[in-house]
Amino acid sequence: MKNTTNSKENAEKNVENLKKTIERKHIIEAKTDAAEKLRELFVDSLKDIYWAEKALTKAIPKMAKNASAPKLVDGLTQHLVETEGQIVRLEKVFSLIGEKAVAKKCDAMDGLIEEGKSIMEETEVGAVRDAGIIAAAQKIEHYEIATYGTLAAWAKALGEKDAAALLVESLLEEKNADETLTEAAYHDINEDALEK
Ligand code: FE
Ligand code: FE
Ligand code: FE
Ligand code: ZN
Repeated sequence: MKNTTNSKENAEKNVENLKKTIERKHIIEAKTDAAEKLRELFVDSLKDIYWAEKALTKAIPKMAKNASAPKLVDGLTQHLVETEGQIVRLEKVFSLIGEKAVAKKCDAMDGLIEEGKSIMEETEVGAVRDAGIIAAAQKIEHYEIATYGTLAAWAKALGEKDAAALLVESLLEEKNADETLTEAAYHDINEDALEK
């Protein structure tokens, strides 16, 4: 009798253990699945900002050409050089994670660049157009800051430390560019726009 009870208990225990193992396996599978999906999103977002940076190498010179205040022209010209470096940096990120560097149209950046173009068409050259260029450029920088911040966080979450470090470098350049634009606006340009 005692043996029968024992074997019944053992059988129940075995079933319990089996259930736990299956449950654990499902949790691991769900985690792996989520990591794969996040990685896809990460790669897709890299392609998006890669397109955006390339588009900016054409848009920034047009903004600089339309700008009048030396501080603004200098800031835009300096950021063009940084933008070219950011493209090379993104190519390094692609290579670090074993992906091909492919650009995929970023509708948001396309729209922000278009908005900048309209402002330049609708304003007269000088302080007011400068103020408009600063506004358009800061919207662009803020989009980039949000993007690089997110990409760096995802790279860290995915265990891509070297890629994360590169993305943080670009993030800091974008923040600095935004700061330069703010300074150009507050120290000269907005006041000049009002004096007219
Ligand atoms: Fe950039
Ligand atoms: Fe985008
Ligand atoms: Fe930028
Ligand atoms: Zn400042």
